[in-house]
Formats: sequence, C-alpha cells, structure tokens
Amino acid sequence: MESLRESHIHHRVGRSLIFFPLPFQGHINPMLQLANILYSRGFSIIIIHIHFNSPNPQNYPHFTFYSIPDGLEHDVSTADIIYFVKLLNIECVEPFRDGLSRLLLDFKEEPISCIITDAVWHFTQVVADSIKLPRIVLRTSDISSFHVFAAFPLLREKGYFRAKDSKLEESIIEIPPLKVKDLPDVKTQDPEDLHRYVAKLMDESKASSGLIWNSFEELEQDSLTRLCQHFPIPIFTLGPFHKYLPASSSSLLTQDQSCISWLDAQAPNSVLYVSFGSLAAITKNEFLEIAWGLASSNQPFLWVVRPGLVQSSGCLEPLPNGFLEMVGERGYIVKWAPQQEVLAHPATGGFWTHNGWNSTLEGICEGVPMICQPSFGDQKVIARYVSDVWKIGIHLDYTLGRGKIERTIKRLMAEAEGQRIRETIMSLQEKAKLCVRQGGSSYRSLASLVDYILSFKT
Ligand code: UDP
Repeated sequence: MESLRESHIHHRVGRSLIFFPLPFQGHINPMLQLANILYSRGFSIIIIHIHFNSPNPQNYPHFTFYSIPDGLEHDVSTADIIYFVKLLNIECVEPFRDGLSRLLLDFKEEPISCIITDAVWHFTQVVADSIKLPRIVLRTSDISSFHVFAAFPLLREKGYFRAKDSKLEESIIEIPPLKVKDLPDVKTQDPEDLHRYVAKLMDESKASSGLIWNSFEELEQDSLTRLCQHFPIPIFTLGPFHKYLPASSSSLLTQDQSCISWLDAQAPNSVLYVSFGSLAAITKNEFLEIAWGLASSNQPFLWVVRPGLVQSSGCLEPLPNGFLEMVGERGYIVKWAPQQEVLAHPATGGFWTHNGWNSTLEGICEGVPMICQPSFGDQKVIARYVSDVWKIGIHLDYTLGRGKIERTIKRLMAEAEGQRIRETIMSLQEKAKLCVRQGGSSYRSLASLVDYILSFKT
C-alpha cells in the first residue's frame, strides 16, 4: 500500500491538533484517517492513547504518540461494552488531564489549537473546558442513528423499551422506518447505565465546539438537516474519510493478504464477503447455521472467522465436520481480512455484514450490495436504513436459519432483485466518490473545518 507522500501535504500551518481515539477498531480507523487528512492540511498531529488496544506508531511515523495510563485492571472484560466504557470514562480523567497539561507546555512552537475526541469519551468535555481548550467531537457512526440515541428519553417515555415480543414488528411512528426490534439495545449488567451513557454522550456532544461525521451530505441529507436544527453548533460532514488519501493501516489484528490471491482466481462479482466486524458475537447455533447456509448456497464466499466471533469462546471456533469437504475451493476462511481491499476487488459481488458504520460506508464506497445482520447498538438502525431507506441491501430480520440464508444469498447474488440493489448502490458509490473531490460537499466541509480550527486563539 502506498504511504502518505509529501505531495499529499499542503503547507504547514504551525498548529498542532490532539486526537484521542476510543480504543476499538471501528473507532480507531476513522479517527486516524481523520488525523491523516488534517495532517495533509498542514497540522501537526498528536495522538493520545491508552495501553489497551493501542495503535501501532510505526504505521504513523509522521505523528507524535503520547501514552497515558488507563487504570484498568488487567482482566477487565470488554464483553459488557457499556460497563467497560463507563469505567474508561472514570479512570482516564486524571491521566488525560495530566497528559494534556504536559503537552500544552511542550508544544509551544506549534501551539495546540484544539482536541478532537471520540464522542464516547464524554468526560473530555469537562477537562477541555477546565483548561479552556476547544473540544471538537468525532462521532464515528452515522447521523441517522445519532437521532435515535437523541430520542432515547422520548422513546422511553412512550414505553418502547418495555415492548413485549408481540410488539417487536411494530413501527416506531416517531422515527420511520424504524421498527421496535431495531431499537439500539446493548446488553449490560445495569440497563440504566445505557441510558445514562447515552444522555452523557448527547449532552457533552452538544456542549462541544463542533461535531465531525464520517458521512456525507448526499447520503444523509434529511438527518443532517434535522441535526443542524437540534445541535446548534458547527457541524462537518467530511466522509468517507478513507477515500481522501492512500490508506495507512490501523488494524489491530494482522490482515491475511492471502485471500487477495484467492479472490484473483474468482469470476467478477461472484464472491460473497462475510464479516461481522471486530466486536459482534454470535451464538454457536448461529455460527453453524451460517456455515451450512454458505455451504448450500453454492456461491463462492470469503468468510472472516475471527477469534471470539462465537460468544463465550475467546478463541477460534472449529468449523463443523464435513464443512470444508463440502465447500472445497469455493470457500476461503481468514481470521481477519484486508477489508477495504476485499471490497474493492472486482470478484467481490456481495457483503454479508453486521452493518458497523465503517463496514457499511466501505461497502457503499465500493458499490457492493449487502446482506444485513446487525448485532447490537447503532448497527440495527444502520441496517434498517441500508435495507429500507437507501435500498442497498437485504435485511435478514434477526433470524438465521440455513434455509433462509441460502435463499437470501441467491436473491442477492443471482436474481434480478440483487441486480437492482447493485445498480442503486453503484449510483451511491458515484456520489461518495464525487463528494471528496475538489468542489464536492465533503471537500468543502473539510475546508470549512480547517478554517474553523485556524480561527481558534492559541
Ligand atoms: N475490518 C478489517 N478486517 C476484517 C473485518 C473488519 O480490517 O476482517 C475493519 C473494517 O474495514 C472496518 C473495521 O474493521 O474499518 C470495523 O469497523 P465497523 O464500524 O464496521 O465495525 P465494528 O468492528 O466497530 O463493530
């Protein structure tokens, strides 16, 4: 992969920016991409990070990395993500404050203009305020699901969170086309923690100096208009970030490049790429249904089976007996893939995804139609938008029988319905391509972000 060359870099502006990524793959990738974009606009970049899931500085020799302690016990699990994030937002306050104060003293020559932190690091607003440093928030998901989180108090008041099974198919009239079953739930030991966390994220985002989105105007026009009404702070839609510059890897796991040679030997648009991102976990039974559904679909597939994909087994789940014999050369399995390259490969014709926002955006950028199998949180809202609003995928609707899987794969990969979806996503792909070019909506938004940051007193 090509690295960031001098030719990509505008003149230096003599200012530094501090980034503070949340230590999860789907949050690290867009934040480091954004850091690269702003580096190319002349800013010096400092990345504050904790030990857990820390990025590899060797892939970013042009950045300064600054490590702070996270105060976490070694064996703390991320299985309860809300609890984990709550802990981080408590334990990191002092180390972050200390680190920031030190950096402000050290970077006198290229003064620090502001911090750019993940929205989930809500505690950073209070710290930034206390030292009078502007904080800009990066929300690494889509705008539409942000509205759903913003509506939590209302949805709660209306009783949607208590809805019984018989009501799950009903529409949420306040937020079409969402159904009750699409509400972003996250399993956690104390459900109140989820509501408290969402309220904090919203309040501290509103209190910030601006909000950045890895999305683009043409994709989320209505949601963006609504956002501007409810969040009267500067808002920047600069996405898709990964299309500005040659990629630098921020992968926490080693990407198995061997699948690219396997793809090279496959027919155009014939391969279904199957990946559920870095966190989603399925049951053992779902794993078996997926395996047999893939086997009986007769479609070539590339499947990411990462350690921990199957719930409560931290390691690699064994494939069922007879599976490999049945699929032979038609299937290829890796622990972790170079996803953007896979999606961009001409042989890839479909993407069975959990609809994490990065995966969804990467799929759109390469014009690959989707099968939607969201797992938790924002993924459920994104999946509903993919299938019902943008019409670029088929929703599995939360049931995973092998017969249904086989049928859905055929609908997407071999039938007229799949062809229509392909045409729709290819026209979105075109819009995604244009918006980051000179004069495009994201390109202009980036220019106004740069001007805005340069307007901060240092
Ligand atoms: N990814 C990857 N290899 C894989 C699967 C995923 O490099 O085998 C990358 C993918 O390109 C995306 C990120 O991991 O940038 C996953 O982010 P996403 O928001 O889709 O999901 P999350 O992991 O946060 O649930």
